[in-house]
Amino acid sequence: MTSPQNDSEKRKQISIRGIAPVENVATIKKSFNRHLHYTLVKDRNVATPRDYYFSLAYTVRDHLVSRWIRTQQYYYEIDPKRVYYLSLEFYMGRTLSNTMVNLGIQSSCDEAMYQLGLDIEELEEIEQDAGLGNGGLGRLAACFLDSMATLGLAAYGYGIRYDYGIFTQKIENGWQVEEPDDWLRYGNPWEKSRPEYCLPVNFFGRVQHVNGREKWVDTQVLFAMPYDTPVPGYGNNTVNTLRLWSCKAPNQFNLHFFNNGEYINAVCDRNYAENISRVLYPNDNVFEGKELRLKQEYFLCAASLQDLIRRFKSSTFGQQNPVRTSFDTFADKVAIQLNDTHPSLAIPELMRILVDIENVAWDKAWDIVTRTCAYTNHTVLPEALERWPVSLLQHVLPRHLVILYEINARFLREVGKRWPGDNDRIARMSLVEEGGEKKINMANVCIVGSKAVNGVAAIHSDIIKKTTFKDFYEMYPKKFQNKTNGITPRRWLLLCNPGLADVIAEKIGESWVVSLSELRKLTSASKEETFLRNIMKVKQENKMKLAQFLQEKYRVRINPASIFDMQVKRIHEYKRQLMNCLHIIVLYNRIKKNPQAPFVPRTVLIGGKAAPGYHTAKMIIKLINNVGRTVNNDPIVGDKLKVVFLENYRVSLAEKIIPAADLSEQISLAGTEASGTGNMKFMLNGALTIGTLDGANVEMMEEMGRENIFIFGMTVEQVEELFRKGYNPRHFYESDDELKQAMDQINSGYFSPDQPGLFSEIYHGLLHNDRFALCADFRSYVDCQNQVSELYKDQMKWAVKAALNIASSGKFSSDRTINEYAKEIWGIEPSSLKLPNPADKGSAKED
Ligand SMILES: *Cc1c(COP(=O)(O)O)cnc(C)c1O
Repeated sequence: MTSPQNDSEKRKQISIRGIAPVENVATIKKSFNRHLHYTLVKDRNVATPRDYYFSLAYTVRDHLVSRWIRTQQYYYEIDPKRVYYLSLEFYMGRTLSNTMVNLGIQSSCDEAMYQLGLDIEELEEIEQDAGLGNGGLGRLAACFLDSMATLGLAAYGYGIRYDYGIFTQKIENGWQVEEPDDWLRYGNPWEKSRPEYCLPVNFFGRVQHVNGREKWVDTQVLFAMPYDTPVPGYGNNTVNTLRLWSCKAPNQFNLHFFNNGEYINAVCDRNYAENISRVLYPNDNVFEGKELRLKQEYFLCAASLQDLIRRFKSSTFGQQNPVRTSFDTFADKVAIQLNDTHPSLAIPELMRILVDIENVAWDKAWDIVTRTCAYTNHTVLPEALERWPVSLLQHVLPRHLVILYEINARFLREVGKRWPGDNDRIARMSLVEEGGEKKINMANVCIVGSKAVNGVAAIHSDIIKKTTFKDFYEMYPKKFQNKTNGITPRRWLLLCNPGLADVIAEKIGESWVVSLSELRKLTSASKEETFLRNIMKVKQENKMKLAQFLQEKYRVRINPASIFDMQVKRIHEYKRQLMNCLHIIVLYNRIKKNPQAPFVPRTVLIGGKAAPGYHTAKMIIKLINNVGRTVNNDPIVGDKLKVVFLENYRVSLAEKIIPAADLSEQISLAGTEASGTGNMKFMLNGALTIGTLDGANVEMMEEMGRENIFIFGMTVEQVEELFRKGYNPRHFYESDDELKQAMDQINSGYFSPDQPGLFSEIYHGLLHNDRFALCADFRSYVDCQNQVSELYKDQMKWAVKAALNIASSGKFSSDRTINEYAKEIWGIEPSSLKLPNPADKGSAKED
């Protein structure tokens, strides 16, 4: 595990991480050895690499503790308005390196490990990702936590501590196979359980009417146990909290069995009840109306609301006001952001607490709720919108169903007053969907119960106003806003691409880390040959490193001189990985047809998980792998074209591959991808984008100029027109020889000779039910890819565009996004208030 000499030379280069102070290195070594001895109970003869990882993690964690306590004390003292980010997903990835970067102790830890003969990168690789998310929505929540801490907001994330995060994807014979993600097996050094703060959550039961009031009785009670994870800001001593709830059966659980002598069964049943926090639902952009999922959603809302109300009540105004008894100031002190409709039950639950428990009158309670909650919409795909059957709500949450009906009755009266006799409109806007099985439309609940509704990119916010929620926009035009998504530049540049971070820092200093729009200063540098050569050199190094990683880990050889063309994201028909695959087939056919013709070499890397129940997505993975097998083993192709399916795409893999990308594929059908955030990560790391005018691609283009991005395909308006006129994919198939050939090969078993009919369902799906208009956009896509290859031949021209991509990416910092939420939704001024460094006060030697 000793670092080779050239690594030591590399470490000594001047870098943005600075130089490690000798005292810090000594302190870290001491703390590391102490943890190995006292916490891990090992000596260096028997310690495993995992023991070393844990020792380092505990050492780094120690640096957070005083800052964490101090930050929370400080919030208690000054009692600022709190922001609560409620989300069923927090896709955090790894914590060790992020903590070192944000605390500015990376070079010290690096040096300390080096002096101990350990390779810090090898230790970092041992950490399991916290994979408590599916994709963009969950990763957004994680980026937001980083930005809220960096901006010094009194913010809290609330979520569920799933025992099993997003499944591990294995590829076996080209098929996706899922394995459970047992991420807690070796323990989690970053969390602190708080069993003393367990809170009760009720389920089932019935509603009792007692002298004009409603009571929820005969419920089953479970407990929510909090686990707190620190969220450090970058360079500011703020440490916020991510509080995740785990389900615990109370000691009295199933007590009636005990009296029947069914002791063993009663104790065993506790496990079953605790299944609520067992596993993350692996669907991205798909609603699956399962009872367990409904319970998860309510579990999060009920626990989090009790917790934040307790905090509201206990907060003090100076010394005068020891305990709050009135809710009059609640909405001035609390903002609740709902990450999609998943935590939408917070709305009826807050009503229930205020009306049933706190004796607040309905109208007043409703006023409080609608000034506290805000809702972020993440998709317009109809299959993703949550609509819970009334019968299921009646069973699991009977009191909430009554409250939802009351909210609906009052709301529809308002609609009726505004549009008398417009019964169609009333039916469209009702929270209760009739016709077939009765369902509650949770997006409608959120819009009615929130002070603000936002989309996540300009084009998406327009679509929800004009189409998805048109009726609601006409009623509440001022509620609707846009908040274009962003990514944290700490993880997605400083941490994952230190080479590029150094090149940038050399040119414009380091303040871009907290003020990303400063990257604009690089615009002039895009005319300097040295700068261009420097960013190209870093890109080439990143590509070599990725090639080596893929060689060592997966035994695939790739050509580092080829275009690294990447599409990594959840596998979904609307994201059109199949169109990418068809393009690969076209390139393959061109090489086969004319092996001597010049060809710009490409390596197409595709990665992503399919929801386990999503048959078509899994077939697409199999097809990509089979096409890859054919292409990669054809001697005529050589190293002109390679296809790699990246197994188990997740946050830590994203950090490894994105810095090595030349080309980013963002090719969803216009109008289907709400924003995308993968697109931003690639842009920030100097990849060029081939994409449609969809989601945040539109704003990326506005920032960098049309000439620096490869835009193809229909606009939203053209897509609408195509379907209005009656879309016939066969027309495109028959008039495009390359498309026809590729589709025919898929259909005839060219890529599945052992099972010739294996992929004919894909062929027929395209020809008869091409929901995402892949055939219609295909020619435009292939032509655009030709331009990509053409440009790549001129490395200098390519580098200029790459530099301008980086220079234009400042808007896509999640710091900018969070500033907008703070000012325009939450009503707070980002303070950026510097907390004192506890280390400076000598309060603790190893804070
Ligand atoms: C950023 C990210 C995503 C979102 O990617 P999109 O291309 O925006 O869908 C999904 N998964 C992981 C692991 C990510 O880091």
